[in-house]
Amino acid sequence: MSYEIQDHILDVAVLGAGGSGLRASLGCAEKGLKTACISKVYPTRSHTVAAQGGVGAALGNMGKDDWKWHMYDTVKGSDWLGDQDSIEYLCSNAPEAVIELEHLGMPFSRNKDGKIYQRPFGGHSTEYGKGEPAHRACAAADRTGHAMLHTLYQQCLKHDVQFYNEYFALDLIKEDQGEICGFFAINIQDGSMHRFLAKITILATGGYGKIFQSSTSAHICTGDGAGMSLRAGLPLSDMEFIQFHPTGIYGVGVLISEAARGEGGYLKNSEGKRFMLDYAPHAKDLAARDVISRFISMEIKEGRGCGPNKDYINLHLDHLDPVLLAKRLPGISESARTFCGVDINKEPIPVIPTVHFCMGGIPTNFRSEVLVPTSSNTEEVCRGLMAIGEGACASVHGANRLGTNALAELLVFGKGAAIRASEVLEKEKHNKKPSQSQTDEIISRFDGILHNKGDISVGQLRDKMQKTVQSRFGVYRDEETLALGNEELARLSSELSHIEVKDKSSVFNTDIVEALELHNLMQISRSVGASAINRTESRGAHAREDFPDRDDENWMNHSIVWMNEDKFEVTKRPVRMTTISNKAKVIAPEVRIY
Ligand SMILES: Cc1cc2nc3c(=O)[nH]c(=O)nc-3n(C[C@H](O)[C@H](O)[C@H](O)COP(=O)(O)OP(=O)(O)OC[C@H]3O[C@@H](n4cnc5c(N)ncnc54)[C@H](O)[C@@H]3O)c2cc1C
Repeated sequence: MSYEIQDHILDVAVLGAGGSGLRASLGCAEKGLKTACISKVYPTRSHTVAAQGGVGAALGNMGKDDWKWHMYDTVKGSDWLGDQDSIEYLCSNAPEAVIELEHLGMPFSRNKDGKIYQRPFGGHSTEYGKGEPAHRACAAADRTGHAMLHTLYQQCLKHDVQFYNEYFALDLIKEDQGEICGFFAINIQDGSMHRFLAKITILATGGYGKIFQSSTSAHICTGDGAGMSLRAGLPLSDMEFIQFHPTGIYGVGVLISEAARGEGGYLKNSEGKRFMLDYAPHAKDLAARDVISRFISMEIKEGRGCGPNKDYINLHLDHLDPVLLAKRLPGISESARTFCGVDINKEPIPVIPTVHFCMGGIPTNFRSEVLVPTSSNTEEVCRGLMAIGEGACASVHGANRLGTNALAELLVFGKGAAIRASEVLEKEKHNKKPSQSQTDEIISRFDGILHNKGDISVGQLRDKMQKTVQSRFGVYRDEETLALGNEELARLSSELSHIEVKDKSSVFNTDIVEALELHNLMQISRSVGASAINRTESRGAHAREDFPDRDDENWMNHSIVWMNEDKFEVTKRPVRMTTISNKAKVIAPEVRIY
């Protein structure tokens, strides 16, 4: 089929209007760059809106704090897989990024001095892990992401960022020399075809939690940017590291933020015992997420789960002051009431570890430029392409993210990407021309999916894929289960050619959008499976029962996965153990105890 294609010529095209995309768009527009922000949903519906607990920054408003302690905690939290230059960049810039947001109008909660309120959060400590828990999570009650997203969106409107809402991006466009020069998108509202041609493209497409059946992610978290990168011949990094949040509501998957434990909540098993006191005597219920998720799974496995089927754990808030709960955790009170009929003042909330965050994604350096590792252990920058937010892998979270560091990452790397984009554009003035053959290829792929004749619906195949990923790539993993998962996914991938998009219309065709998302989800699931079976050690969120120990000798490396036709190949890239400035010191690997 032939389409009329509308071209949009830009300095910067930002794909995604979550916290990272909006922060980058704002930064680019402030620098006078012609910037468009493209999103498949209305900006304030991006998943960032659901973030609850807080944004991490060592402001020291509620006690002594230091960004270097934050850096230590983040490196330790990452189980030494994080790149230390990126972590330094995050932690040293977070305080300024949060203050800037305050000045842009973010309605933070306040302490008694009128300063931004900060609460404790898992894995955040003082004195390089030796002191008391740090009060570092800057919060707007338990609706921090909501406040952040609305503040940023309003600022973008003020600075005349051009918004293209409800446009679905299909694929990256390259010029003949291989440089990225934008992407193709359809306007979901009327089915029209658009090319966003930009000197710099910034991918801010969020995570891919929806490869799992149960996750705290929104339905839109389908990792489209990662799928687009794979199809453009670019690799993904550390895809095996999927964070299970310890406290998703049992049976529903809705998140109960760590803010609940930050305000004094704790976990108990069926014997009424606070088991975290044994497992993590120092940090207790505020140990890192991977650690608590593993211990909850162990309690349940050993028969100490709660309820008739002994398959969940109780989160208690009923010992806390009702006034504090109403003031600091209003959203959690509402979620508990709505999704499991619990009054948190009187009863515990039933919780289980639930998929929450994707540490892996599109590899970048700390300047947010997309990296292409080469066989000789060096890396090149993919010209014209940057990536930020949960869809990127900078890598600040390594094998396990600390709560509040994702929102901090959106602000710091969103702003950083805008700074880098304007530096690059000052030097490079040339106009890129998209390759015609590639344009034809993208359209024919789209047409192929829209007009395919088959006997399986998108929903049916997605369901099968999510069940496989859920049962084979869980908290604990081993060779046999992972291999089974990979075989099943290879089989399910071949079924993509049997799906039929029933709706052929051009107006709000959600059937084709979901089919395109499913293609992305499938490629991502396979990247996760290939990377997970390849990593023969346990580190952070990747717990192998057949390789229970961390193996620094062989595995202080990022997994790099490439898609080659129908094959997924995994290579390695060494972890960067260097810092940017002499203010920070490299933190050498230690045994990780909380
Ligand atoms: C329930 C929940 C609570 C959380 N709480 C916290 C917290 O308290 N603190 C913290 O630090 N972190 C928290 N996180 C994590 C954090 O919120 C996310 O990692 C972060 O918000 C992701 O932001 P983002 O900008 O990368 O992407 P998102 O906010 O997910 O936005 C992605 C954007 O990309 C667009 N997009 C994607 N694909 C396409 C496509 N094909 N075409 C067009 N547009 C596309 C979408 O429309 C959207 O605008 C939480 C996460 C969840 C799920």
